[in-house]
Amino acid sequence: MRKNILADSQISCTGCGACVASCHKKAITLSINEEGFYAPVVDGNLCVDCGACQKVCYRFIAFTNHTCEMRDKTVYGVYSSNQVIQHTTTSGGCAYELSLWGIDHGYKIMGVIYDYEKDQAKTVLISQQKDLELLKGSKYIQSDTSEAFALLLEEAKKDQSQKYICIGTPCQIFGLRQLIRRHHLANELILVDLFCHGVPSYNVWKPYISQKRRELGKLNQVQFRHKGNGWHQYTIRLLGEKGIYSEFAYKDMFYRYFFDNVALNTSCFTCALRKEYVASDLRLGDFLGGAYEQREDGVSAALVATDKGDWLLKELAKEKRIIIDREWLSTDCLKAQSTCDYLNLYLRDKVIMKLRDGEDLGNVQHFYFRYLPFKNRLRSYFKRLVTFLPPSMLMIIRRFYRAFFS
Ligand SMILES: Cc1cc2nc3c(=O)[nH]c(=O)nc-3n(C[C@H](O)[C@H](O)[C@H](O)COP(=O)(O)OP(=O)(O)OC[C@H]3O[C@@H](n4cnc5c(N)ncnc54)[C@H](O)[C@@H]3O)c2cc1C
Repeated sequence: MRKNILADSQISCTGCGACVASCHKKAITLSINEEGFYAPVVDGNLCVDCGACQKVCYRFIAFTNHTCEMRDKTVYGVYSSNQVIQHTTTSGGCAYELSLWGIDHGYKIMGVIYDYEKDQAKTVLISQQKDLELLKGSKYIQSDTSEAFALLLEEAKKDQSQKYICIGTPCQIFGLRQLIRRHHLANELILVDLFCHGVPSYNVWKPYISQKRRELGKLNQVQFRHKGNGWHQYTIRLLGEKGIYSEFAYKDMFYRYFFDNVALNTSCFTCALRKEYVASDLRLGDFLGGAYEQREDGVSAALVATDKGDWLLKELAKEKRIIIDREWLSTDCLKAQSTCDYLNLYLRDKVIMKLRDGEDLGNVQHFYFRYLPFKNRLRSYFKRLVTFLPPSMLMIIRRFYRAFFS
């Protein structure tokens, strides 16, 4: 029986990239598969079947031994004390502030940039404040971690005094934690993950962004979450040489695929790290669900998973970089997060096949929409409709919507 990551398991690959860095023979690479997701490729000529990759893989280890339950944890509503940062980040700017704090205190930061050449997201290690701007903002596509994970391992072994703050999706941070454990790294490492909805296929993002490039010319900025219409109204904004595209999420082709859950990675459908468990010191996201209904500048939810996470948050508050608004029960935050299984895997597989065959995004959307559950279709119409209303009415509508749909 094979001992590498190609062996069978009930659980699907997340594309976290930990296996690539775990391989001493450099037999594993990460590349985008035909479904449009990062997945490992094993070179059979180089692989010696040592099993190192399985030992860091979410598919093969009893991950409950290396995680804790989200529901037992404390959640804070927090936001940057700098209004410019709060306005230009995704939620309350907590990830940005802790990265800035890290640079000022000698940490290197692992985070995600948008690669404008390849139209892909990439995980990188940075050590200078000027590069923090590149990490700012969520890129709602899967990032390639392989180079950054390998670099961190190499550097950290050479210099045990180097400290790191690493930010990524729950599966990436889980994989990284296994690498750290397997390599017995003694460096100071703070792991931060994000509340996660899942990652959509590059077979949606690539044709979508190519079309936008044709209309807008060379792109100078891709903002998945622009707060020009407020924090609650998700807006995508693309700045091109020939013009600007700015659209509400529910009227935007890419976002609709993302929110309709028809083009996510298979592993996202039942991901236990998305739903229940946390392998980081701190989990960050948007504080959704009515608690901050009146706020349009953005508030981060910070779920404290370890003493280290708690210490970090308190340090940031002590240095007046963030404002901790108040402590909440985890249920107040989790009720609005994506913590259930997604049920339409069969439809997802059909959509992914059509996209793989190069069918037009609009036609595929037209195809799948009629198979969505009635409630989801109604929600989609409803959300598109409210974008025509003046902002003053939106808050009342949102309350009604929440009472009806949640
Ligand atoms: C794919 C994805 C799905 C998400 N789903 C949810 C959700 O369902 N609910 C929720 O509350 N929050 C979700 N988030 C998190 C949320 O969008 C913000 O990233 C989070 O609130 C931190 O924002 P901020 O204002 O603190 O700072 P920001 O400056 O906006 O920080 C963004 C941080 O995210 C990192 N990042 C950006 N893109 C990626 C990526 N593709 N993969 C890994 N890390 C990345 C950056 O390195 C940076 O550290 C998701 C994020 C991603 C990337």
